[in-house]
Amino acid sequence: MQHANSHLTMPLLEASGVTKVFSATGSAGGGFLSRLMRKRQVNLRAVNGVDLKIRKGEVVGLVGESGCGKSTLARLFAGIRSPSSGKILHGGQDLAALSRDDTVAHKLKTQMIFQDPYSSLNPRMRVADIILEAPRLHGLVRGNEADFVDEQLRRTGLDPTFKLRYPHQFSGGQRQRIVIARALAVQPEALICDEPVSALDVSVQAQVLNLFMQLREQLGLTYLFISHDLGVVNHVSDRVVIMYLGRIVEEAPTQELFDSPAHPYTRALLADMHRIDTRRRTFAPLQGELPNPADPPTGCAFHPRCPHVMPRCHDEIPELRTVSPGHRSACHLNNPL
Ligand code: SF4
Repeated sequence: MQHANSHLTMPLLEASGVTKVFSATGSAGGGFLSRLMRKRQVNLRAVNGVDLKIRKGEVVGLVGESGCGKSTLARLFAGIRSPSSGKILHGGQDLAALSRDDTVAHKLKTQMIFQDPYSSLNPRMRVADIILEAPRLHGLVRGNEADFVDEQLRRTGLDPTFKLRYPHQFSGGQRQRIVIARALAVQPEALICDEPVSALDVSVQAQVLNLFMQLREQLGLTYLFISHDLGVVNHVSDRVVIMYLGRIVEEAPTQELFDSPAHPYTRALLADMHRIDTRRRTFAPLQGELPNPADPPTGCAFHPRCPHVMPRCHDEIPELRTVSPGHRSACHLNNPL
């Protein structure tokens, strides 16, 4: 879906040469990378030299297999983690160079929505208190608190009379709406959504996706939308970014990426998407295993699985090059010798 705002060029969020290395003694969070590192006791370059700009009002879909670094990149954009090198910029300002107060203000403007709404809600707090917690702390409630809560709930399609209930009294879809209401209560400019619908029933997924898109129209929100589901990304994004083992391998406007993918990895993902049930377009494993991210292949990291592999792919890392306006791909096929 190409949105009218996508012509706006100012990057609201930007990663500039960003690399994130996790050491065996540190923590990579609770995900796939963390489990892998604990098992193998290694250092891991989860994000490797990423440049990505997200314009104000734009929806960027970020796609890749588990372990490709997309969740780490999301946390870097949200300011939950700091890069090992490179910069994360919010509104042109380097997060690492901000004062403590400015850092808090920038983090509030960029809210993160996680996959599992239940684990991100305190089960002992009522919905009203969940929604009010951060706005109270940061002095963002104007007027009557009850009216403020009602407005957040209505905005996300929830009945305000539910505000004294606890999270367990809601369905999965309703809980994700509460999470969204809590995020909106601090008046963010951007939402970083990490697999926000993949824990929900298929019938509920479309409703929550539609809510995200309505909120975009109403509030002018910017999104980084992470999903392993290409159908979801196709539905919501203006632009799609494909990651493989910590690097961006392709980036293009959504329609162009789906119509004319330039990178063999993207083409394989799309082929998988068309092969499987269109009612639930999940990520079928590509041919071959995803290599160990802690010990990536030399040259092009996709070479052990690529049907077009050439001798130079074994030792030459392909650069991300422009193949048409707004469309970049990192493959030697796009750059013949
Ligand atoms: Fe395949 Fe080589 Fe292109 Fe990598 S650089 S995707 S191995 S053709």
